Amino acid sequence: MSFLPFARPTIDEAMIAAVADTLRSRWIVTGPRVAAFEKALSERFGGRPVRALTSATAAMQVALELLGIGPGDEVIIPAQSFFVTGNVVERSGATAVFVDVDLGSRNIDLAQAAAAVTAKTRLLFPTHYNAPLDPDVLDAFARRHKLRILEDAALAIGSRTPRGPVGATGDIVSFSFHPNKNMTTIEGGALALNDEREAAIVDELRFHGIKRLPDGTRDVERAGVKYNFSDVSARLGLAQLAHLEDWCRARARLAQRYFECLAGDDLLVPERLPPRDNPGHSWNMFTVLLPLQALRSTRKAFMDAMHKEGIGTGVSYEAIHLTTLFRNKGFREGMFPASERIARETVTLPLFPEMRETDVERVCESMKRVMRRKAA
Ligand SMILES: *Cc1c(COP(=O)(O)O)cnc(C)c1O
Repeated sequence: MSFLPFARPTIDEAMIAAVADTLRSRWIVTGPRVAAFEKALSERFGGRPVRALTSATAAMQVALELLGIGPGDEVIIPAQSFFVTGNVVERSGATAVFVDVDLGSRNIDLAQAAAAVTAKTRLLFPTHYNAPLDPDVLDAFARRHKLRILEDAALAIGSRTPRGPVGATGDIVSFSFHPNKNMTTIEGGALALNDEREAAIVDELRFHGIKRLPDGTRDVERAGVKYNFSDVSARLGLAQLAHLEDWCRARARLAQRYFECLAGDDLLVPERLPPRDNPGHSWNMFTVLLPLQALRSTRKAFMDAMHKEGIGTGVSYEAIHLTTLFRNKGFREGMFPASERIARETVTLPLFPEMRETDVERVCESMKRVMRRKAA
């Protein structure tokens, strides 16, 4: 039986041909296909300006610069997310203020976020994780505390709320097109922005800070970076975007199959699974919390045993405040219990659109077998 990875992008022959055509055209760097990709994303997001960049990490870094976040500012982030949120805040010179997440949705606990607001707080920087963030609640939070919001929607292209697709609402929203996400451009990211003024600043920042002058020369006002997107990636992105809805439906179906196969398991009780009733979620990942005490084993041993069964698993994520970077600033175990418990027990099971329901069944059977062996 072939090895089942925990994530895999869908790439068909039409996409390969479209990319090959782009290469043959010799226009491979930023050009008409980047403009078309940004326009297609903008249409998805209700017409707001969108800019594509080389990664979500680049996009978030540029967004913080656009917002003028720097030394003396505080940015509220969840302790349970990918390292990048902590990293980009740290690199901006601002102070990362951590708050805990909800154990099931894994989204930021906004009551704790409200309590963490000080006179120095400039930005709330939450991640769409195991469920879409509620845009009405975010809007109200921003108004009440007079804060900007940068949504990390790396996992949430294709997610929906009652007010439309994630990216169509809110302040600034950042996306990733890494191969493990719901659609890919190999590497890539995008920002959904509020207006043309913000988009013009991103245009400048992502390409050396260059401004074109009427006399045909160029000027630099802000020290820019080199995060502009390529036409080759954009062409792949356009072809991928056309399948996004279908792929998210396939993900949702496979997630439901996981719930069915795991129902009634005495080790993986529902509290250890993601929220099942989860409207609008694009199911980038299916994460479970392992009952390590009952298993009298480690996550590493579980993952190794699954690997032997031909099944790949992942860890999403470690707790950001417990990295050496933030331990060196005084953060310790016990500060954010839900984030730390997720970091200890979480494992990500295979989930990608080309999987079949029989693959899900195979994962569940292997998992039950591995757990029984340990718990015995
Ligand atoms: C993947 C991911 C990122 C980073 O995206 P890149 O495009 O690889 O920079 C950021 N945040 C979350 C939650 C992610 O899953």
